[in-house]
Amino acid sequence: MKDFAGYRCSVCGQEYSPSEVTYTCPRDEGNLDVVLDYDSLKKKFQPEDILSRRDFSLWRYLPLLPVEEPSGSATPLHAAGGTPVYLLQSLADRLKLERLWLKDESRNPTASFKDRASAVVVARAREIQADTVVTASTGNAGAALAGMAAAVGQKAVIFAPKTAPPAKVAQLLVFGAKVYLVNGTYDDAFDLTIQATKEFGWYCRNTGYNPFTAEGKKTAAYEIWEWWHTAHREWHKEAGEESGHAPLSVFVSVGDGNIISGLHKGFKDLVALGWMTGMPRLFGVQAEGSAAIANAFQAKADKITPVKADTLADSISVDQPRDGLRALRAVRESSGSYITIPDQEILEAIADLGRVGVFAEPAGAAAYAGLVRAVRQGIVSEGDPVLVINTGSGLKDVKAAMRSINEAPVIEPSLAALKKML
Ligand SMILES: *Cc1c(COP(=O)(O)O)cnc(C)c1O
Ligand SMILES: [Zn+2]
Repeated sequence: MKDFAGYRCSVCGQEYSPSEVTYTCPRDEGNLDVVLDYDSLKKKFQPEDILSRRDFSLWRYLPLLPVEEPSGSATPLHAAGGTPVYLLQSLADRLKLERLWLKDESRNPTASFKDRASAVVVARAREIQADTVVTASTGNAGAALAGMAAAVGQKAVIFAPKTAPPAKVAQLLVFGAKVYLVNGTYDDAFDLTIQATKEFGWYCRNTGYNPFTAEGKKTAAYEIWEWWHTAHREWHKEAGEESGHAPLSVFVSVGDGNIISGLHKGFKDLVALGWMTGMPRLFGVQAEGSAAIANAFQAKADKITPVKADTLADSISVDQPRDGLRALRAVRESSGSYITIPDQEILEAIADLGRVGVFAEPAGAAAYAGLVRAVRQGIVSEGDPVLVINTGSGLKDVKAAMRSINEAPVIEPSLAALKKML
Protein backbone atom coordinates (compact mmCIF):
# COMPACT_ATOMS: atom_id res chain seq x y z
CA MET A 1 0.00 0.00 0.00
CA LYS A 2 1.36 3.38 -1.02
CA ASP A 3 1.68 6.14 1.56
CA PHE A 4 -0.13 8.52 -0.77
CA ALA A 5 -2.65 10.24 1.51
CA GLY A 6 -4.18 12.70 -0.97
CA TYR A 7 -3.76 16.31 -2.06
CA ARG A 8 -3.56 19.72 -0.40
CA CYS A 9 -4.32 22.94 -2.27
CA SER A 10 -1.35 25.30 -2.30
CA VAL A 11 -3.71 28.30 -2.24
CA CYS A 12 -6.55 27.54 0.22
CA GLY A 13 -5.12 24.53 2.04
CA GLN A 14 -8.19 22.33 1.37
CA GLU A 15 -7.36 18.62 1.45
CA TYR A 16 -8.70 16.05 -1.01
CA SER A 17 -8.58 12.27 -1.14
CA PRO A 18 -6.72 10.66 -4.08
CA SER A 19 -10.00 9.78 -5.82
CA GLU A 20 -11.70 13.14 -5.24
CA VAL A 21 -9.76 15.35 -7.66
CA THR A 22 -7.39 14.87 -10.60
CA TYR A 23 -5.79 18.21 -11.40
CA THR A 24 -6.13 21.58 -9.64
CA CYS A 25 -8.25 22.74 -6.68
CA PRO A 26 -11.94 22.85 -7.67
CA ARG A 27 -12.43 25.98 -5.53
CA ASP A 28 -9.65 28.25 -6.75
CA GLU A 29 -7.63 26.32 -9.36
CA GLY A 30 -4.62 26.30 -7.01
CA ASN A 31 -1.86 23.76 -7.72
CA LEU A 32 -2.27 20.65 -5.57
CA ASP A 33 0.56 19.29 -3.43
CA VAL A 34 0.65 15.53 -3.12
CA VAL A 35 0.40 14.64 0.58
CA LEU A 36 2.43 11.68 1.81
CA ASP A 37 1.87 9.91 5.12
CA TYR A 38 5.21 10.82 6.69
CA ASP A 39 4.45 9.06 10.00
CA SER A 40 3.81 5.80 8.23
CA LEU A 41 6.87 6.26 6.01
CA LYS A 42 9.08 7.00 9.02
CA LYS A 43 7.97 3.78 10.69
CA LYS A 44 8.64 1.71 7.61
CA PHE A 45 11.83 3.20 6.16
CA GLN A 46 15.28 4.46 7.10
CA PRO A 47 17.52 6.35 4.64
CA GLU A 48 19.64 3.20 4.44
CA ASP A 49 16.73 1.29 2.88
CA ILE A 50 16.96 3.64 -0.07
CA LEU A 51 20.70 4.28 -0.17
CA SER A 52 21.42 0.56 -0.33
CA ARG A 53 19.28 -0.05 -3.43
CA ARG A 54 21.06 -1.07 -6.64
CA ASP A 55 18.64 0.85 -8.88
CA PHE A 56 20.11 4.27 -9.73
CA SER A 57 17.13 5.57 -11.71
CA LEU A 58 14.45 7.72 -10.06
CA TRP A 59 12.62 4.50 -9.13
CA ARG A 60 15.26 4.17 -6.44
CA TYR A 61 12.97 6.45 -4.40
CA LEU A 62 9.82 4.40 -5.00
CA PRO A 63 8.69 4.40 -1.35
CA LEU A 64 8.49 8.23 -1.48
CA LEU A 65 6.55 8.34 -4.76
CA PRO A 66 2.73 8.35 -4.99
CA VAL A 67 2.75 5.76 -7.80
CA GLU A 68 3.84 2.18 -8.35
CA GLU A 69 6.62 1.51 -10.83
CA PRO A 70 5.12 0.30 -14.11
CA SER A 71 5.83 -3.35 -14.77
CA GLY A 72 8.76 -4.36 -16.93
CA SER A 73 12.26 -3.00 -16.62
CA ALA A 74 15.12 -1.63 -18.67
CA THR A 75 12.92 0.63 -20.81
CA PRO A 76 13.63 4.37 -21.13
CA LEU A 77 10.84 4.98 -18.61
CA HIS A 78 12.68 2.87 -16.08
CA ALA A 79 15.92 4.73 -16.78
CA ALA A 80 14.85 8.33 -16.04
CA GLY A 81 16.86 10.11 -13.36
CA GLY A 82 20.18 9.10 -11.84
CA THR A 83 21.99 11.92 -13.63
CA PRO A 84 25.70 12.67 -13.03
CA VAL A 85 27.21 15.61 -11.14
CA TYR A 86 30.45 17.14 -12.43
CA LEU A 87 32.93 19.34 -10.58
CA LEU A 88 33.58 22.44 -12.72
CA GLN A 89 36.86 23.56 -11.20
CA SER A 90 37.98 25.91 -13.98
CA LEU A 91 34.68 27.79 -13.96
CA ALA A 92 34.78 27.87 -10.14
CA ASP A 93 38.24 29.46 -10.35
CA ARG A 94 37.03 31.99 -12.86
CA LEU A 95 34.09 32.97 -10.67
CA LYS A 96 36.29 32.83 -7.54
CA LEU A 97 34.08 30.20 -5.95
CA GLU A 98 35.51 27.49 -3.75
CA ARG A 99 33.31 24.76 -5.19
CA LEU A 100 31.04 24.60 -8.22
CA TRP A 101 29.27 21.51 -9.53
CA LEU A 102 26.82 20.87 -12.35
CA LYS A 103 24.07 18.23 -12.38
CA ASP A 104 23.57 17.20 -15.98
CA GLU A 105 19.92 16.48 -16.70
CA SER A 106 20.64 16.29 -20.43
CA ARG A 107 21.68 12.72 -19.63
CA ASN A 108 18.06 11.65 -19.19
CA PRO A 109 16.58 9.26 -21.80
CA THR A 110 15.01 12.03 -23.93
CA ALA A 111 17.70 14.53 -22.92
CA SER A 112 15.90 16.85 -20.51
CA PHE A 113 14.78 17.19 -16.90
CA LYS A 114 11.19 16.63 -18.08
CA ASP A 115 11.72 12.87 -18.19
CA ARG A 116 11.36 12.78 -14.42
CA ALA A 117 7.85 14.23 -14.56
CA SER A 118 6.76 12.24 -17.58
CA ALA A 119 7.94 8.92 -16.13
CA VAL A 120 5.84 9.44 -13.02
CA VAL A 121 2.81 10.77 -14.93
CA VAL A 122 2.89 7.80 -17.31
CA ALA A 123 3.09 5.50 -14.28
CA ARG A 124 -0.03 7.22 -12.94
CA ALA A 125 -1.74 6.93 -16.32
CA ARG A 126 -1.16 3.16 -16.26
CA GLU A 127 -2.62 2.93 -12.76
CA ILE A 128 -5.81 4.76 -13.65
CA GLN A 129 -5.93 2.92 -16.99
CA ALA A 130 -5.97 6.11 -19.03
CA ASP A 131 -6.39 5.44 -22.72
CA THR A 132 -4.57 8.55 -23.95
CA VAL A 133 -2.16 10.95 -22.25
CA VAL A 134 -1.91 14.48 -23.56
CA THR A 135 0.33 17.47 -22.86
CA ALA A 136 1.07 20.99 -23.96
CA SER A 137 4.76 21.60 -24.30
CA THR A 138 7.39 24.03 -25.53
CA GLY A 139 9.07 20.82 -26.71
CA ASN A 140 10.80 18.98 -23.88
CA ALA A 141 7.75 18.00 -21.83
CA GLY A 142 6.22 16.62 -25.00
CA ALA A 143 9.37 14.77 -26.04
CA ALA A 144 9.59 13.29 -22.55
CA LEU A 145 5.93 12.25 -22.52
CA ALA A 146 6.14 10.84 -26.05
CA GLY A 147 9.31 8.89 -25.18
CA MET A 148 8.09 7.52 -21.86
CA ALA A 149 4.69 6.65 -23.36
CA ALA A 150 6.33 4.89 -26.31
CA ALA A 151 8.47 2.90 -23.89
CA VAL A 152 5.42 1.27 -22.32
CA GLY A 153 2.98 1.32 -25.25
CA GLN A 154 0.83 4.20 -23.99
CA LYS A 155 -0.94 6.50 -26.47
CA ALA A 156 0.21 10.15 -26.36
CA VAL A 157 -1.00 13.41 -27.91
CA ILE A 158 1.23 16.52 -27.91
CA PHE A 159 0.40 20.17 -28.54
CA ALA A 160 3.49 22.35 -29.11
CA PRO A 161 3.86 25.85 -30.54
CA LYS A 162 4.77 25.65 -34.21
CA THR A 163 7.90 27.68 -33.38
CA ALA A 164 9.33 24.82 -31.26
CA PRO A 165 12.95 23.94 -32.22
CA PRO A 166 12.94 21.31 -35.02
CA ALA A 167 14.98 18.79 -33.02
CA LYS A 168 12.29 18.70 -30.34
CA VAL A 169 9.52 18.30 -32.93
CA ALA A 170 11.55 15.49 -34.51
CA GLN A 171 11.68 13.71 -31.16
CA LEU A 172 7.90 13.95 -30.77
CA LEU A 173 7.34 12.46 -34.20
CA VAL A 174 9.98 9.75 -33.96
CA PHE A 175 8.51 8.59 -30.65
CA GLY A 176 5.23 8.08 -32.49
CA ALA A 177 3.04 10.55 -30.61
CA LYS A 178 0.13 12.28 -32.29
CA VAL A 179 1.56 15.78 -32.71
CA TYR A 180 -0.28 19.04 -33.31
CA LEU A 181 1.76 22.19 -33.92
CA VAL A 182 -0.28 25.06 -32.59
CA ASN A 183 -0.37 28.33 -34.48
CA GLY A 184 0.25 30.31 -31.28
CA THR A 185 2.31 30.37 -28.10
CA TYR A 186 2.97 27.72 -25.45
CA ASP A 187 0.22 29.37 -23.40
CA ASP A 188 -2.24 28.92 -26.28
CA ALA A 189 -1.23 25.25 -26.53
CA PHE A 190 -1.71 24.89 -22.76
CA ASP A 191 -5.26 26.23 -22.84
CA LEU A 192 -6.19 24.13 -25.88
CA THR A 193 -4.88 21.01 -24.13
CA ILE A 194 -7.13 21.61 -21.14
CA GLN A 195 -10.17 22.11 -23.37
CA ALA A 196 -9.33 18.91 -25.27
CA THR A 197 -8.85 17.03 -22.01
CA LYS A 198 -12.32 18.02 -20.85
CA GLU A 199 -13.90 17.25 -24.22
CA PHE A 200 -12.29 13.86 -24.90
CA GLY A 201 -11.60 12.51 -21.41
CA TRP A 202 -7.85 12.26 -21.97
CA TYR A 203 -5.40 12.21 -19.10
CA CYS A 204 -3.56 15.55 -19.03
CA ARG A 205 0.10 15.85 -18.09
CA ASN A 206 0.25 19.65 -18.36
CA THR A 207 3.08 21.00 -16.23
CA GLY A 208 1.87 22.13 -12.80
CA TYR A 209 -1.76 21.41 -13.69
CA ASN A 210 -1.11 17.72 -13.09
CA PRO A 211 0.03 17.27 -9.45
CA PHE A 212 2.26 14.32 -10.39
CA THR A 213 4.69 16.40 -12.47
CA ALA A 214 6.20 17.95 -9.34
CA GLU A 215 6.35 14.50 -7.74
CA GLY A 216 8.54 13.28 -10.59
CA LYS A 217 10.70 16.37 -10.51
CA LYS A 218 11.26 16.15 -6.77
CA THR A 219 13.40 13.06 -7.34
CA ALA A 220 16.22 15.37 -8.45
CA ALA A 221 16.19 16.83 -4.92
CA TYR A 222 16.55 13.33 -3.47
CA GLU A 223 19.54 12.73 -5.74
CA ILE A 224 21.09 16.04 -4.69
CA TRP A 225 20.60 15.09 -1.05
CA GLU A 226 22.27 11.73 -1.61
CA TRP A 227 25.13 13.20 -3.60
CA TRP A 228 25.70 16.08 -1.17
CA HIS A 229 26.27 13.65 1.69
CA THR A 230 29.20 12.17 -0.16
CA ALA A 231 30.53 15.37 -1.77
CA HIS A 232 30.33 17.21 1.54
CA ARG A 233 32.17 14.52 3.41
CA GLU A 234 34.99 14.41 0.85
CA TRP A 235 35.28 18.16 0.89
CA HIS A 236 35.67 18.19 4.68
CA LYS A 237 38.29 15.50 4.48
CA GLU A 238 40.28 17.52 1.93
CA ALA A 239 39.94 20.71 3.94
CA GLY A 240 40.85 18.87 7.13
CA GLU A 241 37.92 20.35 9.01
CA GLU A 242 34.93 18.90 10.75
CA SER A 243 32.04 21.10 9.68
CA GLY A 244 30.95 24.68 9.20
CA HIS A 245 30.27 25.02 5.48
CA ALA A 246 27.53 27.25 4.17
CA PRO A 247 24.46 25.42 2.84
CA LEU A 248 24.42 24.34 -0.78
CA SER A 249 23.09 26.91 -3.28
CA VAL A 250 21.16 25.34 -6.17
CA PHE A 251 20.68 27.28 -9.43
CA VAL A 252 17.95 26.28 -11.86
CA SER A 253 16.14 28.01 -14.69
CA VAL A 254 12.44 28.75 -14.29
CA GLY A 255 9.57 28.96 -16.79
CA ASP A 256 6.30 27.60 -15.38
CA GLY A 257 8.05 27.14 -12.04
CA ASN A 258 7.36 23.43 -11.72
CA ILE A 259 10.97 22.24 -11.59
CA ILE A 260 11.86 24.59 -8.76
CA SER A 261 8.69 23.76 -6.82
CA GLY A 262 9.36 20.06 -7.41
CA LEU A 263 12.88 20.45 -6.00
CA HIS A 264 11.44 22.29 -3.01
CA LYS A 265 8.88 19.52 -2.46
CA GLY A 266 11.63 16.90 -2.52
CA PHE A 267 13.68 18.73 0.08
CA LYS A 268 10.58 19.32 2.23
CA ASP A 269 9.81 15.58 2.15
CA LEU A 270 13.31 14.82 3.41
CA VAL A 271 13.06 17.41 6.20
CA ALA A 272 9.63 16.06 7.21
CA LEU A 273 11.03 12.54 7.38
CA GLY A 274 13.87 13.80 9.57
CA TRP A 275 16.40 12.58 6.98
CA MET A 276 17.79 16.03 6.26
CA THR A 277 18.39 19.08 8.44
CA GLY A 278 18.39 22.53 6.89
CA MET A 279 17.55 23.07 3.27
CA PRO A 280 19.62 24.03 0.23
CA ARG A 281 19.05 27.60 -0.96
CA LEU A 282 17.09 27.64 -4.22
CA PHE A 283 17.93 30.23 -6.87
CA GLY A 284 15.51 30.61 -9.77
CA VAL A 285 16.83 32.05 -13.02
CA GLN A 286 14.50 33.63 -15.58
CA ALA A 287 15.14 35.28 -18.91
CA GLU A 288 14.54 39.03 -18.74
CA GLY A 289 11.95 38.62 -21.49
CA SER A 290 10.01 35.94 -19.59
CA ALA A 291 10.26 36.93 -15.95
CA ALA A 292 6.75 36.85 -14.47
CA ILE A 293 7.83 35.01 -11.32
CA ALA A 294 11.04 37.00 -10.81
CA ASN A 295 9.02 40.21 -11.18
CA ALA A 296 6.65 39.12 -8.39
CA PHE A 297 9.63 38.18 -6.23
CA GLN A 298 11.29 41.58 -6.69
CA ALA A 299 7.97 43.34 -6.00
CA LYS A 300 7.42 41.17 -2.88
CA ALA A 301 4.01 40.33 -4.35
CA ASP A 302 1.99 37.14 -4.04
CA LYS A 303 0.10 37.68 -7.24
CA ILE A 304 1.87 36.88 -10.47
CA THR A 305 1.16 39.16 -13.39
CA PRO A 306 1.52 37.48 -16.80
CA VAL A 307 4.02 38.90 -19.32
CA LYS A 308 4.30 38.74 -23.08
CA ALA A 309 7.21 36.29 -23.19
CA ASP A 310 10.12 36.97 -25.52
CA THR A 311 13.35 34.97 -25.15
CA LEU A 312 15.45 32.65 -27.28
CA ALA A 313 15.33 30.14 -24.42
CA ASP A 314 12.14 28.44 -25.65
CA SER A 315 11.86 26.06 -22.70
CA ILE A 316 11.42 28.93 -20.27
CA SER A 317 9.36 31.17 -22.55
CA VAL A 318 6.09 31.44 -20.63
CA ASP A 319 3.48 34.22 -20.47
CA GLN A 320 1.58 32.91 -17.49
CA PRO A 321 3.52 30.55 -15.20
CA ARG A 322 1.39 27.55 -14.26
CA ASP A 323 3.17 26.90 -10.98
CA GLY A 324 4.15 30.43 -10.04
CA LEU A 325 2.99 30.63 -6.45
CA ARG A 326 4.82 27.50 -5.33
CA ALA A 327 7.86 28.64 -7.31
CA LEU A 328 7.87 31.91 -5.36
CA ARG A 329 7.59 30.04 -2.07
CA ALA A 330 10.39 27.64 -2.99
CA VAL A 331 12.78 30.56 -3.18
CA ARG A 332 11.40 32.55 -0.24
CA GLU A 333 11.28 29.59 2.13
CA SER A 334 14.80 28.45 1.26
CA SER A 335 16.41 31.92 1.57
CA GLY A 336 17.30 31.96 -2.12
CA SER A 337 16.55 34.56 -4.74
CA TYR A 338 15.32 35.13 -8.29
CA ILE A 339 17.73 36.39 -10.91
CA THR A 340 16.99 37.61 -14.41
CA ILE A 341 19.39 37.53 -17.35
CA PRO A 342 19.36 38.88 -20.90
CA ASP A 343 19.48 36.44 -23.84
CA GLN A 344 23.02 37.56 -24.71
CA GLU A 345 24.28 36.17 -21.38
CA ILE A 346 22.49 32.87 -22.07
CA LEU A 347 24.46 32.57 -25.32
CA GLU A 348 27.71 33.32 -23.46
CA ALA A 349 26.80 30.67 -20.90
CA ILE A 350 26.31 28.07 -23.66
CA ALA A 351 29.87 28.79 -24.81
CA ASP A 352 31.30 28.77 -21.25
CA LEU A 353 29.72 25.41 -20.43
CA GLY A 354 30.77 24.04 -23.81
CA ARG A 355 34.41 24.75 -22.98
CA VAL A 356 34.21 22.42 -19.99
CA GLY A 357 32.48 19.65 -21.93
CA VAL A 358 28.82 20.36 -21.19
CA PHE A 359 26.46 21.02 -24.11
CA ALA A 360 23.37 22.84 -22.81
CA GLU A 361 20.29 24.15 -24.56
CA PRO A 362 19.55 27.84 -23.86
CA ALA A 363 17.23 27.16 -20.90
CA GLY A 364 19.84 24.83 -19.40
CA ALA A 365 22.68 27.32 -19.80
CA ALA A 366 20.46 30.05 -18.31
CA ALA A 367 21.04 28.58 -14.84
CA TYR A 368 24.79 29.12 -15.21
CA ALA A 369 24.24 32.61 -16.62
CA GLY A 370 22.20 33.34 -13.48
CA LEU A 371 25.06 32.18 -11.30
CA VAL A 372 27.50 34.49 -13.10
CA ARG A 373 25.14 37.40 -12.37
CA ALA A 374 24.59 36.32 -8.78
CA VAL A 375 28.34 36.26 -8.16
CA ARG A 376 28.74 39.67 -9.78
CA GLN A 377 25.93 41.09 -7.65
CA GLY A 378 27.30 39.56 -4.45
CA ILE A 379 24.23 37.36 -3.93
CA VAL A 380 26.54 34.35 -3.76
CA SER A 381 29.96 34.58 -2.15
CA GLU A 382 33.24 32.71 -2.36
CA GLY A 383 32.58 30.16 0.36
CA ASP A 384 29.12 29.19 -0.87
CA PRO A 385 29.11 25.74 -2.45
CA VAL A 386 27.07 25.92 -5.66
CA LEU A 387 25.28 23.32 -7.78
CA VAL A 388 23.99 24.41 -11.19
CA ILE A 389 21.41 22.24 -12.92
CA ASN A 390 21.66 21.89 -16.69
CA THR A 391 18.06 21.04 -17.54
CA GLY A 392 18.39 20.14 -21.23
CA SER A 393 20.78 19.10 -24.01
CA GLY A 394 22.30 21.50 -26.52
CA LEU A 395 21.46 19.04 -29.28
CA LYS A 396 17.83 20.07 -28.86
CA ASP A 397 18.44 23.54 -30.26
CA VAL A 398 21.38 23.63 -32.61
CA LYS A 399 20.38 26.98 -34.09
CA ALA A 400 20.79 28.70 -30.72
CA ALA A 401 24.07 26.88 -30.14
CA MET A 402 25.44 28.21 -33.43
CA ARG A 403 24.65 31.74 -32.28
CA SER A 404 26.87 31.28 -29.24
CA ILE A 405 30.10 30.58 -31.12
CA ASN A 406 32.01 31.60 -34.29
CA GLU A 407 31.35 29.45 -37.32
CA ALA A 408 34.13 27.19 -38.56
CA PRO A 409 36.05 28.32 -41.67
CA VAL A 410 35.87 26.21 -44.82
CA ILE A 411 39.25 25.44 -46.41
CA GLU A 412 40.56 23.80 -49.57
CA PRO A 413 41.90 20.32 -48.80
CA SER A 414 45.57 21.29 -49.13
CA LEU A 415 48.37 21.95 -46.67
CA ALA A 416 49.07 25.26 -48.40
CA ALA A 417 45.53 26.43 -47.69
CA LEU A 418 45.82 25.31 -44.08
CA LYS A 419 49.14 27.14 -43.64
CA LYS A 420 47.58 30.31 -44.91
CA MET A 421 44.83 30.04 -42.32
CA LEU A 422 47.08 29.21 -39.38
C1 LIG B 1 10.76 22.97 -18.76
C2 LIG B 1 12.16 23.40 -18.73
C3 LIG B 1 12.62 24.35 -17.81
C4 LIG B 1 11.73 25.10 -16.86
O1 LIG B 1 10.94 24.30 -16.02
P1 LIG B 1 9.60 24.92 -15.41
O2 LIG B 1 9.01 23.84 -14.62
O3 LIG B 1 8.76 25.32 -16.59
O4 LIG B 1 9.99 26.10 -14.60
C5 LIG B 1 13.96 24.67 -17.84
N1 LIG B 1 14.81 24.10 -18.71
C6 LIG B 1 14.40 23.17 -19.59
C7 LIG B 1 15.40 22.60 -20.54
C8 LIG B 1 13.08 22.78 -19.64
O5 LIG B 1 12.69 21.89 -20.55
ZN1 LIG C 1 -7.82 25.75 -3.18
